[in-house]
Amino acid sequence: MTLTATEKQRYARHLSLPEIGATGQSRLKNAKVLVIGAGGLGSPCTLYLAAAGVGRLGLVDHDVVDLSNLQRQVLFANEDVSLSKTSAATKRLSALNPDIEVVAHEIKLTAENILDALRDYDVVVDGTDRVATRYLINDACVILGKPLVSAAIHRFEGQAITYVPGRSACYRCSFPNAKDSHVPNCADAGVLGVLPGVMGAIQATEAIKLVTGIGELLAGRLLTYDALTMRFAEFTVARRTDCAVCGENPTILTPEDATPTSRTTAAQRSLISHATPRQLNLRLVAARESSTPILLVDVRESHEYGKGSLPESINVPIGELQARTAELANKLTEAARGRTSRPDVVFICRSGGRSLQACELAVSAGLTAVPINLDGGLLAWSRDVDHEFVVAAV
Ligand SMILES: [Zn+2]
Repeated sequence: MTLTATEKQRYARHLSLPEIGATGQSRLKNAKVLVIGAGGLGSPCTLYLAAAGVGRLGLVDHDVVDLSNLQRQVLFANEDVSLSKTSAATKRLSALNPDIEVVAHEIKLTAENILDALRDYDVVVDGTDRVATRYLINDACVILGKPLVSAAIHRFEGQAITYVPGRSACYRCSFPNAKDSHVPNCADAGVLGVLPGVMGAIQATEAIKLVTGIGELLAGRLLTYDALTMRFAEFTVARRTDCAVCGENPTILTPEDATPTSRTTAAQRSLISHATPRQLNLRLVAARESSTPILLVDVRESHEYGKGSLPESINVPIGELQARTAELANKLTEAARGRTSRPDVVFICRSGGRSLQACELAVSAGLTAVPINLDGGLLAWSRDVDHEFVVAAV
């Protein structure tokens, strides 16, 4: 595919680089890159890939823009708040470069749909913030033989690694024993806004190198970045012959939804029930009018709880939950006295991550058989149920 006159002008600074030149720029124009997650990492990554002239740029996300995203997700403007991320992103990226095709995939990736979502792309970039999804994407890329650029951010630290099929270690080789439930997401742990800017730009660089075939990839090397000390470090990661997905005798032959090494068993996880804010609201109204009680346990830190909480909720910070199981069990027995059914236990936090851990703890501790997680947490509650509700910062 040859470049038009406008494209020659637009990409003049690439064309001047002998390593890229007209050949490299045409490769970019013919390339199909999929970025998963229109968040902190996906924002700079898609902006730079669009600017660089990647011919088909796919973007997967199923969320809407939240005001708290704007601190780092530079794809979005204030006016985009509560709009779909993929549609706001498509508008922004097409405005930046009308010569490329931006494809929005407004889906939640699952074991069932991931192979189809990835199949048509040459390079996959993982900008998600959930460890379980990261393993799902890794496994799908290994199975399909697609190169993958992974990155992750946490507070002030970032890490990145590139997987080249058949050549380098995959994400699972690097982290065979990750425990999803121990890694809080951005909303729970906080993140320096500019950090994903650095890591997302590194991902875009790797994607461009994969497409154009230039330079030395971040393959078999885990790069870490510490914003506080302003230090980069790297660790060699060898392929594991016993890797469950890319090893000699793989046991993962088709994508799986959950990490097999997660702390709770699949049987325990299946016992966790989920409620959206609207469902919980209906349930609370019903609880007030009927004899079926409900116990709301807010597992945020006490300073967060103090700044605004649901009226019926009690505060047990996640770190104290294990030690206070007996206290909660007593409350449940008390509430059940004279009634036919035991109360439902609903765990609540800011964005739904800590409360999910609490659900797992509650099952392990035998507190309740079927804990309920408020999905999306109080942020979703204030968005969907009570617009006046103020959610304290972490
Ligand atoms: Zn592997």
